[in-house]
Amino acid sequence: MKRELNKLSAVVPAYNEQEVLPMFCERITAVLEPLGCDYEIILVDDGSRDDTWKVILEECSKDSHIRGLRFARNFGHQLAVTAGMDAASGDALVVIDADLQDPPEVIVEMVEKWKEGFDVVYGKRKKREGETLFKKLTAFMYYRLLKSMSGTAIPLDTGDFRLLDKRVADVMGKMREHNRFLRGLSAWTGFSQCPVEYVRHERAAGKTKYTLKKMFKLAADGIIGYSSKPLTMAFFIGGGAIGLTLASMVALLVVQLINGFSLLPWLLALLFLLCGTTLAFMGVIGAYVARIYDEAKNRPLYIISEHAGTELQP
Ligand code: UDP
Ligand code: MG
Repeated sequence: MKRELNKLSAVVPAYNEQEVLPMFCERITAVLEPLGCDYEIILVDDGSRDDTWKVILEECSKDSHIRGLRFARNFGHQLAVTAGMDAASGDALVVIDADLQDPPEVIVEMVEKWKEGFDVVYGKRKKREGETLFKKLTAFMYYRLLKSMSGTAIPLDTGDFRLLDKRVADVMGKMREHNRFLRGLSAWTGFSQCPVEYVRHERAAGKTKYTLKKMFKLAADGIIGYSSKPLTMAFFIGGGAIGLTLASMVALLVVQLINGFSLLPWLLALLFLLCGTTLAFMGVIGAYVARIYDEAKNRPLYIISEHAGTELQP
């Protein structure tokens, strides 16, 4: 049986998006209105320095479906989305950028998938238009690196454009870690996922608000938040160094038995051995730190996604 959608929430982070917001509201309304259900559009002003908030106020006064949130300063895209998710009250919510790079028309297909029973419907970029070669290349490499490093099955080439069932959003809302990588969090919950392909268009107006620094921070959050491999890598490099040094010491002994003794190579070999041991133990410490880090994040141990029998429902 298909699920019925009573209310859909759209969560829209916006940072210095005054040019594009009116256009955005018009286009997303044209998509949400025909769905035939109640809906809300939550615009989160992430501490913009232009007139974004004024534009949001105007949009709110024109349409009662639109709501606004404003941050005191710029907290970053991931936190803006989080605030919008916390405020959302729909049976499902869609996270969508304000710059029209994620076409609102795709929401129709996402809702269909949700009705079929999928809890996370993520937009998968078939093609990226109007983005620099540098961005495309780094994105391509990054998603693959992330996949090889993290134990969580984070789908390749997907951004934050996605539809989330209320249950998924609730669980994500309970994870209050500061360095958030939302696409990782939604995969981590383990609810059923399904992709919807789309072409990522050029920005409708304005420039990218993701500076290289912000991009780098997000990339690090993705890897560090979902993998302890970088920490334990020291162990293997150190172990390798010890192995190599021991082997070369044997070779040295053989050579010196034939050619006569000299102190310097032994000193060097000892130095390498010490360095290797230090590195290896740093790796061991890393393994402990990684576990402490995991605990400090205080995520729930498991999540019950369904209950049998209505009387058991909390
Ligand atoms: N954004 C935000 N806070 C920031 C940076 C970006 O809320 O600090 C918003 C921005 O307004 C847009 C979305 O996040 O709606 C994606 O940003 P952008 O389009 O600049 O990133 P890109 O698509 O270039 O990766
Ligand atoms: Mg964009």
